[in-house]
Amino acid sequence: MTRPRLSRRAAALAPSSTAAVARKAKALAAQGVDVVDLGLGEPDFATPEFVARAGIAAIEEGRTRYTDVAGEPALRDAIAAKYRRDYGVPISRENVLVTAGAKQAVFNACQVLFEPGDEVALYCPFWVSFPEMVRLSGATPVLVPTELEMHWKPIASDLIERASDRTRGIIVNSPNNPTGAVIEPEELENLVDWCEARSASLIFDETYDRFLYGGRPHASAVSFWEEHPGRIVITGAASKTWAMTGWRLGWVIGSREVVDAMSSYQSHSTSNASSISQRAALAALSDPERTDEAVAVMLAEYERRRDRIVAGLAGIPGVRILPPEGAFYAFADVSELYGPKEVAGSSEFCERLLTEAGVAAVPGEAFGEDDCVRFSFATSLPAIEEGIRRLHAWASVSVHTG
Ligand code: PMP
Repeated sequence: MTRPRLSRRAAALAPSSTAAVARKAKALAAQGVDVVDLGLGEPDFATPEFVARAGIAAIEEGRTRYTDVAGEPALRDAIAAKYRRDYGVPISRENVLVTAGAKQAVFNACQVLFEPGDEVALYCPFWVSFPEMVRLSGATPVLVPTELEMHWKPIASDLIERASDRTRGIIVNSPNNPTGAVIEPEELENLVDWCEARSASLIFDETYDRFLYGGRPHASAVSFWEEHPGRIVITGAASKTWAMTGWRLGWVIGSREVVDAMSSYQSHSTSNASSISQRAALAALSDPERTDEAVAVMLAEYERRRDRIVAGLAGIPGVRILPPEGAFYAFADVSELYGPKEVAGSSEFCERLLTEAGVAAVPGEAFGEDDCVRFSFATSLPAIEEGIRRLHAWASVSVHTG
């Protein structure tokens, strides 16, 4: 049998392990195993009705054709208006590109900004796709550690110390997946200043910008837009704010040059984001009041779940966790359990947790931190309670004692 010859690029790719966990948990559930899924990386809420209705109307009105590659002008205007309203910055249509989700936004930004020989600095733990996106652009990721005791916060000086003359970019995600860390405004400012001094780009992924706890405000790199429009690339999405993961709708805010380059790139790969999803997103972005109401309901529920899951995890001997400040993940250090459970690391830990206790979670190894495991709280409180109960019981039994 002759094997297909894969490109070196493809052969070097690691499949997304968050997707792998989801597949395994689904396969077990299909066999009738009762699985508590704390692996999920998406809201369990429905898309708000006023948004979904706009999608239905788009189909009924026959808005089923190609749109401009960069997105419908009305949607680009609505996205620009949101940033003008929220941050008072002079962003207009030509600074906006509509994409098929924030994932495509970050991917295409890397494609147009970085090349072989470049280094791109990332804080670790990182969202699984960032290093692969950097590598697929030909550049090399440089990892900058953050610490649990410091709430995993990104510190500008730690990054600057590790940067070199070849560092052409930084990717920051706040609130962070998987840690929930939220960057402090001073750190962000220092990073923007550093990018300006080095002519480097800051890709700032604010996919979770509406999900911060305890009334804490979101610090966005877009606040520095006026002084540094050539340095900042913002990626955002409808996915979490309006629980629209399946609609695939995100965007980029950038200088005209970056947006034009990304639009050309997109014109040869996927073309426009779904015309139907664009109409739904237009309805969403055009109605800040109903958006605030929908977000408030989700945020209050996430906060209840966060408090419960953090208290539950903290109550398990051998587990270390601090409350995440944003997003909907609890990233816990479980490494003290590796010895008693006789596992080599987070992947084996999650494998055994799934098969022996029926709890799905994502190994920290996928995010560059093998001492930890990510538990999602984008699921119901009863599921969280049951997941914690099972984890507690499973963790309490070491291999030697039984
Ligand atoms: N960035 C981060 C940090 C994420 O967690 C996700 C989704 N899990 C994305 C981007 C991608 O979002 P989208 O579904 O809009 O592509």
